[in-house]
Amino acid sequence: KLSNRLQTVANFIESGSRIADIGSDHAYLPVFLAKNKQIEFAIAGEVVKGPHENATNEINEQGVQGVVNSRLGDGLEVVSPEDHIDTIVIAGMGGTLIAQILEAGKEKLQGVTTLVLQPNVGENRVRNWLMIHQYEITKEQILKEDHHIYEVIVAKKTTERITYSAEQLLFGPKLLQILPNQIFREKWEAELARERTAVQQMEHAKKVPQDRIDKLNHKTEMIKKVLK
Ligand code: SAM
Repeated sequence: KLSNRLQTVANFIESGSRIADIGSDHAYLPVFLAKNKQIEFAIAGEVVKGPHENATNEINEQGVQGVVNSRLGDGLEVVSPEDHIDTIVIAGMGGTLIAQILEAGKEKLQGVTTLVLQPNVGENRVRNWLMIHQYEITKEQILKEDHHIYEVIVAKKTTERITYSAEQLLFGPKLLQILPNQIFREKWEAELARERTAVQQMEHAKKVPQDRIDKLNHKTEMIKKVLK
């Protein structure tokens, strides 16, 4: 059984997909999908040896070696054209790292139609990368598990130009459509409290550049507006 977070990610994987799960750790997600016959093929990519070995062991123990391939490598490096991957999954990392992995592996994205991303923080970095590279956000979900709040973002390659407002980049274009939402409110009230403390500390320290304070104040205003 998957965690609520990984189950939410799994729910967004279309039946019969060929996926690459980058930063797979124990490969729980692709193994689960393979056992449930939800996917045709998967790569479990890992850049660190220990997690890569965990993935290999889990795949063998669960007897899904025929469907899930364990590969050691940095980011999308583990993906080859002959794998015919159509869906990339990157879950459980910061948004900045997710955007870096996508940026570094851009040429591996040809033929990839769907990205399923679950940043732990910095979701706006991910959305900004998607906008610039013409991926349209088609679905988003926010969930809470063990006192943590997570967002899952699904994006599809498009030929159209995508523009998202600062508000949409921060809060998520699809999440803005489901408001009011209790988990969303909880997340952004906590964020607001953090911003307030940060501004107070900056003002206290005095020497903080005004533009940093302005930026935080602007974010605070955006949050207040959306929570109203
Ligand atoms: N995806 C799983 C999940 O959501 O439960 C595991 C998340 S785990 C916290 C993050 C994993 O990403 C670690 O095992 C780490 O080694 C791996 N990782 C970090 N940077 C990576 C990169 N550039 N390429 C591949 N894997 C990476």
